Amino acid sequence: MKTKILLVGIDGLILPIALDSGQASALTVLKHAGHFTEMTMDAPTLSGPCWSTLLTGSTNAQHAVADNRFSGHNLLIRPDLLSRAFYADQSTTTFAAAGWPPLVDPAGIGPVIHERRDQQRAGQHRVISRDGETYGYRRIDAEIADAAVYAVTKAGPDVSFVYFCDADDAGHSNGVMGTHYVEAIGRVDAHLARLHLAVTKRAEEHGERWLIVLTTDHGHVDEGGHGGDSAQERASFVIAVGVGRSNPSWPDSFAPEDLVQLLLDERS
Ligand SMILES: [Zn+2]
Repeated sequence: MKTKILLVGIDGLILPIALDSGQASALTVLKHAGHFTEMTMDAPTLSGPCWSTLLTGSTNAQHAVADNRFSGHNLLIRPDLLSRAFYADQSTTTFAAAGWPPLVDPAGIGPVIHERRDQQRAGQHRVISRDGETYGYRRIDAEIADAAVYAVTKAGPDVSFVYFCDADDAGHSNGVMGTHYVEAIGRVDAHLARLHLAVTKRAEEHGERWLIVLTTDHGHVDEGGHGGDSAQERASFVIAVGVGRSNPSWPDSFAPEDLVQLLLDERS
């Protein structure tokens, strides 16, 4: 049986602040249980290019997403993790849920995750697209978590991407040194705890092999904001936790554009 992959993207997460906060028990448990890799993102440390790299396995030059406007992008010829898993094996079921529209909304300026309407009609691909920019990430992340827990529990998609942006949003509003940022991290951590439990139950009940993978696209400067090439803005990580299987034996360091292929290799 192939490993099912749940990739969770936590936008704008500074891992040391999260681990020191006392608000991130699920993240701490997953880090200790999993394979841990520090990773350095390429500048500009903006969500558009960074998520495009992480989700398509392409460099900035290859996907040509220069900023959050996505103008002139090459995403149509740089398919995302979910699409590539499907193209490699057309029995693959996929699921994406995100509140930042460029990641998943086909009506917008992306999306990084291809729509694949034929697979949606066939029930093999499901996309939950919400608008946290308009309605606020605190509320929208909670909706994303509900949808993702339901999908994991009921459908058990083969390859999933689930995205949270509450922490990044708090960093922009109030910086990353005060209470607002760690409170948002606490809310995202509660979503992670629910997902971890859902995957663990699912793997036990169905005898499945799962890999939960956590990453972020960039950090922040202390006063909030990102885009530059400081160490704290470029710092990212990958935590990969096997459930019903062992952890992956990945190298101690790899580039952001290497993540997709590493994940696809775990499928086979
Ligand atoms: Zn971001």
